[in-house]
Amino acid sequence: MPKSPASLALAGGPPVRTQPFPSVSGPAGRTLGDEEVAAVTRVVRSGKLNSTVGTETAEFEQEFADYYGVPHAVASSSGTSAIHLAVAAVDPDPGDEIITTCLSDAGTVLPILAQNAIPVFADVDPLTGNLDPASVRARITARTKAIIVVHLFGIPAPVAELRQIADAHGVVLIEDCAQAYLTRCAPDGALAGTVGHIGCFSLQQSKHITAGDGGITITADNALARRARLFADKAWPRDTDERTHLFLGLNYRMTELQAAVARAQLGKLAGVVEDRRKSADALTAAIAPLPGLTAAPPDGTSYWQFPVFIDESLAGDNGHGYAEALVAEGIPASGGYIQRPLYLTPLFTELRTYGDSGFPLSMPTAPRYVAGLCPRAEELIIGGGLLVISWNERYTADDVADIAAALRKVHTAFTSR
Ligand SMILES: *Cc1c(COP(=O)(O)O)cnc(C)c1O
Repeated sequence: MPKSPASLALAGGPPVRTQPFPSVSGPAGRTLGDEEVAAVTRVVRSGKLNSTVGTETAEFEQEFADYYGVPHAVASSSGTSAIHLAVAAVDPDPGDEIITTCLSDAGTVLPILAQNAIPVFADVDPLTGNLDPASVRARITARTKAIIVVHLFGIPAPVAELRQIADAHGVVLIEDCAQAYLTRCAPDGALAGTVGHIGCFSLQQSKHITAGDGGITITADNALARRARLFADKAWPRDTDERTHLFLGLNYRMTELQAAVARAQLGKLAGVVEDRRKSADALTAAIAPLPGLTAAPPDGTSYWQFPVFIDESLAGDNGHGYAEALVAEGIPASGGYIQRPLYLTPLFTELRTYGDSGFPLSMPTAPRYVAGLCPRAEELIIGGGLLVISWNERYTADDVADIAAALRKVHTAFTSR
């Protein structure tokens, strides 16, 4: 490790920034206000906190479906459950394969295992972190039932191409849009979540809009919608007189409290994304002159975070080094997004699934989950190719100027040593 120039806060110099930034973990960085307070009060006073007796969840579903211009939206308890609804709607046989990415929140892949299907990891594009269609194509087998694509950080994934691949092989394309509200996709600006067969969203605390936790699954397919809705409610067909259970479902219902808050938040979503894009554009312009640092492609990106792709040979250090130096300068940042590819967590390396069975990962057709499986993703996560700067709709021009100043300072120090 070369020595840091003394001017860096990392080496004891004065930091660029001492004031905290607005953060998604508190009121300064969330759009929670009087509307949400009124919504919660309305539900509590109604005495109807459960969606089977109240109307808020049904109304949220209708409003979300209308917002996205799709016929069906099914609310649930989390983003992970929204994806579980999608996988359960596809209804894989045990040992069927679902192709996805290792550069994501675990919520993308846990539902695959919960349905006893096998996650098959395809590699990513080094300048977006999103699934590479060529790698996906190479991993399709006769057992492939679905593809789950993530629009990482709100960067549009190549879903038009993935949809073609999915259709050509008769498999379902599921879009994980937990980080991608109002992301617009090539070639025609379609909303992320509407290009695949199913789109899944999260309302967890850190997302563009929040109800603490919560999820929603959208689709234009009547049969998929029906199965998803039943799965979230014990497969109990409440639209009939029968108290029966049509298949193995769970209780993933959203509460009326969540739904009422989510409705208020949905009204603010367009403004949140617009504000995030505006400040992100300013930082993108500011770092364009810095060799070795590449911002996300701005077209259609909705900036859940602000990723920077690092070429260490030009930038003087990797994403981990940059993150450490930026944090010392008072800028919220991290390297790699997650600490290891999902397939190198004990869940996969030690087959920690159901008891000691290892099922379904113990099936003879399952891949071996080892380092080297997805080299480009590993380079971003472990190798330092990715720097992630926390982003927020409440960032001011001064906040962005501080981040840009810190990036210039660190870049100058790292490239001149
Ligand atoms: C947050 C997130 C999830 C899981 O959502 P939860 O609401 O936390 O369960 C899944 N996928 C991605 C890409 C996410 O960012």
